[in-house]
Amino acid sequence: MSTIRCDKCPGYFCFAGSWTPEKAPENCPMLLYPAVFESACDTALEESVSELNIPAAIVEKEGFAKLNGKNVPVYPRIREIIEFAKKTGRTHIGLAFCKSSSDEAAMVGKIFDAFGLEVDAILCKCGGIDKTKVGVPADMKIRPPDTFECCCNPLVQAQILNDLGTDINVLMGLCLGHDMLITKYSNALVTTLVVKDKVTGNNPQAALYNIFAKRAFFTP
Ligand code: SF4
Repeated sequence: MSTIRCDKCPGYFCFAGSWTPEKAPENCPMLLYPAVFESACDTALEESVSELNIPAAIVEKEGFAKLNGKNVPVYPRIREIIEFAKKTGRTHIGLAFCKSSSDEAAMVGKIFDAFGLEVDAILCKCGGIDKTKVGVPADMKIRPPDTFECCCNPLVQAQILNDLGTDINVLMGLCLGHDMLITKYSNALVTTLVVKDKVTGNNPQAALYNIFAKRAFFTP
């Protein structure tokens, strides 16, 4: 059973600065967890949080330019990552990418190089190990069971990037689940530049606006 449901909020009163207990829906976390919110600002001011939190806000602000009096975004996410890395002094980047994003990873590596970041990059399939060697049943291969099919290696990606001492690991197109494993086992901060979505060309939000995709994939 659900407890908090901001996704069903009728007014996003916190965002508007107009929150009151009377307006808040019954599943509002501000109603249900007042103690957490009381200590939230103190926690955010701790060095370990603020050294990331404040640069994040600065990068967000700098990523807008004024045009005809309006805020217009000018930093794509890759530029945000670069600016965040430089502002936080975390300039050693681990680029963990999927074979399906290898062309784009080469482009990203060059861009990071051009901005003076130190790049170590590692492919998901490194190791060249058949899926059955890591416990995947042969009949769960995409290709015929007796065909070599290389497994992804998120733990190895994490371990080698840990050994190299990367500051931020940037994920590009890793499979669902493998992205979770590399995140779990990375010593570095982890962010995602490219989310794998085989149907939408790595743009999962697009499926929400596609009536055909809704009919095909989102009807229980
Ligand atoms: S915190 Fe409360 S007011 Fe804000 S979005 Fe969630 S439910 Fe709505």
